[in-house]
Amino acid sequence: VKQTLLVKLGPSPEQAAWLLRTMEAFNAACDYLAGVAFSLSSANKYKLQHEAYHAVRDRFGLSSQMAVRAISKVCEAFKRDRTKRPEFRPHGAMPYDERIMAWKGLDRVSLLTLFGRVLIPVRFSAYQAERLDQRRGQADLVYRDGLWLLLVTIDAPEGEPLDPEEVLGVDLGIVNVATDSDGNQYSGATILGLRRRHRRTRTRLQSKGTKSAKRLLKKRRRQEARFQRHENHQISKQIVARAKDTKRAIALEDLTHIRQRIRSRKPQRATLSSWAFAQLRAFIAYKAQAAGVPVFLVDPRNTSRTCPACGHVEKANRKSQARFLCVSCGCAGNADRIAAENIRRAALSLPDAAPSGVAAKSPRFSGGVA
Ligand SMILES: [Zn+2]
Repeated sequence: VKQTLLVKLGPSPEQAAWLLRTMEAFNAACDYLAGVAFSLSSANKYKLQHEAYHAVRDRFGLSSQMAVRAISKVCEAFKRDRTKRPEFRPHGAMPYDERIMAWKGLDRVSLLTLFGRVLIPVRFSAYQAERLDQRRGQADLVYRDGLWLLLVTIDAPEGEPLDPEEVLGVDLGIVNVATDSDGNQYSGATILGLRRRHRRTRTRLQSKGTKSAKRLLKKRRRQEARFQRHENHQISKQIVARAKDTKRAIALEDLTHIRQRIRSRKPQRATLSSWAFAQLRAFIAYKAQAAGVPVFLVDPRNTSRTCPACGHVEKANRKSQARFLCVSCGCAGNADRIAAENIRRAALSLPDAAPSGVAAKSPRFSGGVA
């Protein structure tokens, strides 16, 4: 499974200046090459190389391998849309491969710049460090909000496919970020608390509108995103481990419908955004894939309003965000747990998921990575 890790670089001011000059030269070269490709109306690498390789090296000072990367980047962009000349912004991502980049142990990376190779400190999270032996020698250098980042491509191994005997239904909610059909709740307590605290100061900062207030707001948003990511990793890890340990597949609601549900629940939008949901789902999907656990997607239409005891479907069954009470038979319970149970049942009744050997066929969903 191809996956990308976002890794933070810590260049010195001098190194940062060199990276910036290199990135700008690279993108200027790409922009120039785009003009050549467009006028030749060709996205052929060899043709473009023959035509412009020396010009690119002389004019922009790129190394031989950087010039080759620029040519293939431009050809790929032009192939995607041949009707117009591709454009390259000065701070667009710059691709690195093993000929111009080398990892030095766990905490440094060597990158080629116009001024020679520079050895730059790298900060990995524990999660990333675990996966670094899977890296492929390819990365994109990214400059964002004054930060230098590497998007590292890794090859996560696919787990031995599990032959599940049952299904673990998982409901992604707002108050409890995830609830499974065993009744476990995976809450986002840290992130919710952090957001509450931040919201109080946000209003004050926004009304100020000064430059430093804006900077602080931006910092807060990044901090929240970082916490959210960490929490989503923890939650998805627990869910996948639980499914694997008990030889079960995982069932989730269909993503498109979940987005609609978030939109319809207006007050909750402030606490959990749709990107956080999408991220959690993606984490569950790729961790499941890596563990060999199949993931089934089910139609979510009635998961929150169907009674698991008598099968009665009615909107009024869900009394509140937290409570379920069947208007027909009186069966009551935690609404998220009942939704998770309904998701589990919906997965078991899928045509390619039989109660024994649930994953007789391939899983319906193999998710991308956020
Ligand atoms: Zn009922």
